[in-house]
Amino acid sequence: MGEGQSNGRRRPERRRRSAPAATPMIEQYLDIKSAHPDALLFYRMGDFYEMFFDDAVRAAAALDIALTRRGKHEGRDIPMCGVPVHNRDPYLERLIRAGFRVAICEQTEDPAEARKRGPKAVVARRVVRLVTPGTLVEDGLLEARSNNHLAAVARAGGAWGAAWLDLSTGDFTVAAPSPDSLAPLLAQVAPGELLVSETLAKAPELAEWADGATALPTVRFDSAAAERRLREAWGVASLEAFGTFSRAETAAAGALIDYLDITQKGRKARLSPPRRQADGATMAIDAATRRNLELTRALDGGRRGSLLDAVDRTRTAGGGRLLAARLAAPLTDPAAIGARLDMVGSFVADAAARDAAREALAGCPDAGRALGRLCLGRGGPRDLAALREALARAEALRRRLTEAAEGALAPPPDGIAAAAARLGAHGVLIDRLTRALAPDLPTQARDGGFIAEGYAVALDEQRALRDESRRLIGALQSEYAARSGVSSLKIKHNNVLGYFVEVGAGHGDKLFADAALFIHRQTMAGAVRFSTVALAELADKIARAADRALALELELFDDLVGEAAARADDIAATADALAAIDIAAAGAALAVERDYCRPEVDGGTDFRVAGGRHPVVEAAGAEGGAGSGEFVANDCALAPDARLWLLTGPNMAGKSTFLRQNALIAVLAQAGCYVPARACSLGAVNRLFSRVGAADDLARGRSTFMVEMVETAAILNQAGPRALVILDEIGRGTATFDGLSIAWATIEHLHAVNRCRALFATHYHELTGLAATLDGLACHTMRVREWKGEAVFLYEVAPGTADRSYGIHVARLAGLPPAVVERAETVLKTLESQEGSAASSRLADDLPLFTAARPKGGGTAAPEATDPALAQLRATDADSLTPREALELVYRLKSLAGE
Ligand code: ADP
Ligand code: MG
Repeated sequence: MGEGQSNGRRRPERRRRSAPAATPMIEQYLDIKSAHPDALLFYRMGDFYEMFFDDAVRAAAALDIALTRRGKHEGRDIPMCGVPVHNRDPYLERLIRAGFRVAICEQTEDPAEARKRGPKAVVARRVVRLVTPGTLVEDGLLEARSNNHLAAVARAGGAWGAAWLDLSTGDFTVAAPSPDSLAPLLAQVAPGELLVSETLAKAPELAEWADGATALPTVRFDSAAAERRLREAWGVASLEAFGTFSRAETAAAGALIDYLDITQKGRKARLSPPRRQADGATMAIDAATRRNLELTRALDGGRRGSLLDAVDRTRTAGGGRLLAARLAAPLTDPAAIGARLDMVGSFVADAAARDAAREALAGCPDAGRALGRLCLGRGGPRDLAALREALARAEALRRRLTEAAEGALAPPPDGIAAAAARLGAHGVLIDRLTRALAPDLPTQARDGGFIAEGYAVALDEQRALRDESRRLIGALQSEYAARSGVSSLKIKHNNVLGYFVEVGAGHGDKLFADAALFIHRQTMAGAVRFSTVALAELADKIARAADRALALELELFDDLVGEAAARADDIAATADALAAIDIAAAGAALAVERDYCRPEVDGGTDFRVAGGRHPVVEAAGAEGGAGSGEFVANDCALAPDARLWLLTGPNMAGKSTFLRQNALIAVLAQAGCYVPARACSLGAVNRLFSRVGAADDLARGRSTFMVEMVETAAILNQAGPRALVILDEIGRGTATFDGLSIAWATIEHLHAVNRCRALFATHYHELTGLAATLDGLACHTMRVREWKGEAVFLYEVAPGTADRSYGIHVARLAGLPPAVVERAETVLKTLESQEGSAASSRLADDLPLFTAARPKGGGTAAPEATDPALAQLRATDADSLTPREALELVYRLKSLAGE
């Protein structure tokens, strides 16, 4: 290309002053780079995207590829590295994951054009796209079964607004969260990239999100400019067509559109009309609760082990995304939930329809994303084929659903009828694509060869010309072989020489002798190569025919894309309907396979589950995983006379499992899924909280008591009567008496002030004394049977309190020497006989009653410990003892006991 040589000699005056001036290419590079200082610049050079200078150093390290040099700038070597154009996606993915943004700079003219301007002219280049985490559309850069959201948050007049979109499908949503629901909303959306104004980037409400957020100049969030942008984006005269947007919502949505302009460099995405998620329409679930319950991701960040993984039976990527979105945002409106459940129910009742639907959906391509890419101008022939296939499947699915409806006694639920109505009517497009597309398709349109024979006369003509010329070349080969007398003479092709005549080195002389015909091109070790005028003419014909054919194909491609784009809204509706049917049929398949039941959700505040199971633990057991064996089903009934359950029981008895299964059942039910239970009815939960005591919360690196308390504070400040709260061993992260006192006061507050439904697991048996004074509190315990002196965990939840902690049993299982275990049992017996079991009931008796209006500077809630041995025992964290420490403890206890 002639780029990269020093032209210092042409400007001697500048050279004298400092180092040699930049080459024209580097000048162009620096110019483009200066417009994208915060992105790595992928600078197209032939078949590679090259990076230079600091970009090269950083990218080479992140990608673990070779760092080389190319020329000098200001007297120093220019570091360089590159990635191949045809295999760029894996590199892009790693860079985006590593936190980079990438500006893709393409050559926008043929190098031959540039050469016409002079030998030193640089090929014109332009950044055609800014790749950021929230604007990915390629399958290779995205997870097929989860949305990748680009979100923006704005504040106007003290109110919050949020907008998010999945660029790969064009789904667009706005919301105006209350201050309390902003954090749960962001946790629901889980943006791949969050846009905030420079002003808001420092807002304490966004502290948790600000870290990876993209801060934009505050003017980009201007709501007046935003309104114009939105009207343009959807081509409407007024936004009222979509309902009323608050100023903050408009600002957030406008910033999103603006950001698309910046990153897509003028290409317009297809955007679905903005949907509005009303505040309170979904169950608010904060980030800690989602993590803790492993709703869509397991603690290790992967999908395996999550609720979503355990219940996903969908057959399409679109169905999988919709299920993930529904589990992330369960509904609160009983009617809307009922409508979803009706759809599942009809497929539960009709096995034939269920099987037919699932068969039609199996292997159905991802129409939503194919359409998104095509409309954005980043699609290829395979995306057209995906549309054709998906739309044909939709047609077949509609036929089957109609047949099933005709044979059924009752009419199908509204949801299925509505989805079925959106599945068809694409016959013309399907037919056209079927005729147009060749059987084997390249990824990129520019590779050509994707239009089927017989579809376009002009294209067939060019191809015939090309084939005829190729045939003529074959004829030339025989002619030349005969004329030269070299039977092994071959006509070959490569990218450097084009077509050429080749003979073995030994035969070269015969062709040299015929100089009137054969023009020497190249002498190799074993062969000599020639060209001829006739061959060159044919080669030229072939090349011209191929060029014309490709140009025609690209035109036809644009036509086909245009046709799909013209029907984009209908196609998107079909893709949505496919996902809705998929989810319903998949939910039914799961219900039948695992014996799930239909939950009843109403406007009350009861929570009743009969025979409930943990969907993930049960599934792991069924797969023969850890602890495999029959999962023991348990009831849970929270109602005004017992809205708060206190659950005691030894370690490993199943407390945490029981707590979580009930939270998960609430999520599934309100997402519109069947639930793992015999029967289930609940008043819609508006906020769900789940917390685990710091000592148990292994997932968080910073498992400090402070975090535990901050999170508990959030619950006590936010939970109302329609909330469901799961507290697992709260207070465990601190010293015994502190922890007990905090747990004690927390329960009283939940009972008197929050008045929410709650499940509280604890190892503080003293807390059960609270049942005497709190009328909405019920004590339950995990049943343990003693058998030949051993404790056997039954995993059954029963009314009452644990009579023993079985710590010594666990100590024996852990391998404490038998002598120590025996001795500890003696000590325990002594302690119990001295202290009696009066401690906890006395504690309850002695404390003044809790009042909702907290007494100022009230007395200490901690119980007095009179017995030093007991105090020592209480202060011991049995789980963290080494065998040696345990033995020392026993001796200390023994001396304290006065023996
Ligand atoms: P805890 O919180 O009381 O220490 P977990 O809930 O962590 O106990 O349960 C410990 C183990 O017991 C689980 O990993 C699971 O394998 C098993 N388990 C819990 N509940 C059940 C159940 N209902 N049926 C069968 N196994 C269970
Ligand atoms: Mg536990």
